[in-house]
Amino acid sequence: MTMTRKTFLQSGAATVAMSAAPSLGLGATIRGTPKDTLLTDAIVLTMDAERRAYHSGYVWLRDDRIFRVGPMNELGQLPDGITHRALNRRLIMPGLVNCHTHLSNGILRGIYDEMPLEVWFAKGMWPVLDSLDARAAEAAADLSLLELMNTGVTTTASGEIPAAHPDMIDAVLTSVARSGIRAVVSRIAMDSADDSSGAQFIPPAYRDQPQFAADEVRRLQKRFNSARIRVVPEALGVLRCTPEMIKNLHAVAVDSDTLFTMHAASSQDERDESRRRFGHGSITELESMGVLGPKTLLAHAIWLDDREIASLAERQTGVSHNPVSNAYYASGVSRLPQLLAAGVRVGIGVDGASTNNSQNVWESMKMAMLFQKQHLEQASFGSAELALELMTRGGAAALHMQDQIGSLEAGKLADLIVIDIDRPALAPTQTIISNLVYSNDPWAVRDVYVDGQLRVSDGRHTALSSDAIIRNARSALAGILARSGLDDYLSKRSRWQWR
Ligand SMILES: [Zn+2]
Repeated sequence: MTMTRKTFLQSGAATVAMSAAPSLGLGATIRGTPKDTLLTDAIVLTMDAERRAYHSGYVWLRDDRIFRVGPMNELGQLPDGITHRALNRRLIMPGLVNCHTHLSNGILRGIYDEMPLEVWFAKGMWPVLDSLDARAAEAAADLSLLELMNTGVTTTASGEIPAAHPDMIDAVLTSVARSGIRAVVSRIAMDSADDSSGAQFIPPAYRDQPQFAADEVRRLQKRFNSARIRVVPEALGVLRCTPEMIKNLHAVAVDSDTLFTMHAASSQDERDESRRRFGHGSITELESMGVLGPKTLLAHAIWLDDREIASLAERQTGVSHNPVSNAYYASGVSRLPQLLAAGVRVGIGVDGASTNNSQNVWESMKMAMLFQKQHLEQASFGSAELALELMTRGGAAALHMQDQIGSLEAGKLADLIVIDIDRPALAPTQTIISNLVYSNDPWAVRDVYVDGQLRVSDGRHTALSSDAIIRNARSALAGILARSGLDDYLSKRSRWQWR
């Protein structure tokens, strides 16, 4: 028999299916339970360690887990009494893992485009945080989550700043719980009184006490932690927090066996100011504090030297690469090739709607590749396969959840998405992997399962009303624009004659 790509993939899969379930035998009928869901006749991208993919395959869900995955010719007779969906060549892949956003910024998209720095400081930053109360934060989180989930995200990390409204993060977490998404939500604290850099300065009203910040994380963990939700501490940045704050919050993470998150090496200004204050970059400073480790997740991590990259790899620290956000604020180009070559755990994040402005992870995957090609002047950099891997198993590794999510494998959590590939932007389908990333159509995602539960069905969220969320978002933003004074700025920004 000639070994084509197709037969190669199928023979490889057969070997593994037999070794994983030797007692079943090929083609034997396996008993189901009434709660099982069997998705068949689909293109399946497993994203497992061998990157097995099936031209015609099935995924079998039992409770909150994946029970079996394989090619159709190994399924045998369909078991009776279970929920069976024939997908007619739709594509199944692991749910997407978004490593960084700010859910409460969902309503702020469009405001910060090309904003002059003086407006950003006077109106865009602190006055907006003053206005982002619990009601606005919940409306914004609903909007962010609707976009993330309907376009295929099953796990998201998100950071929230509740300094002005302590209960705004409760509102975000209430929205997260309602949506059914899997989430790591960090409570962001900052407390530095150092005023030597305008960009890093924290006004007194926004400075948390380290003890209070730690207590708040524990309170939120008690109230919201669940099988799907983890509340974790975040010290915003090495220049925006005192060492006491950073160490205190890291201790809370260690105590509660959760991630410790930070924004780090996210601008040239931060790198330069860090060198001025400490004599080295921010990653080196965090390393000396002992807070980089296998359960730390850093957002951005752009301005790194070779030694810092090696240190992140050695310590298995996770990194969220946020290409669109980095470009939006011209914060620099990530050293993605070096991070990957060193073996750093890299995932992709959209970042908040105030720095992106969408929550479209497909666009971030595409730009993660394109920005590097352009920067390196090397069209051969990366691939659509790499982009999909970073958005699934890469993100799972960055969040230190690689044993639970990120690939379709028996025993892992049943987080997966179903994509309709018969759409204009995704045709012709011979090059479907490239089309998914480089010709992305986020709304081609039709079904989204989290923990084996159908959260998006044929493009509609099963618990969230799109109309109500969009209405609430409009009204919440109106309040913020009025209270922060940004409505005045926005009305003068356009040179078009609006009537
Ligand atoms: Zn961020």
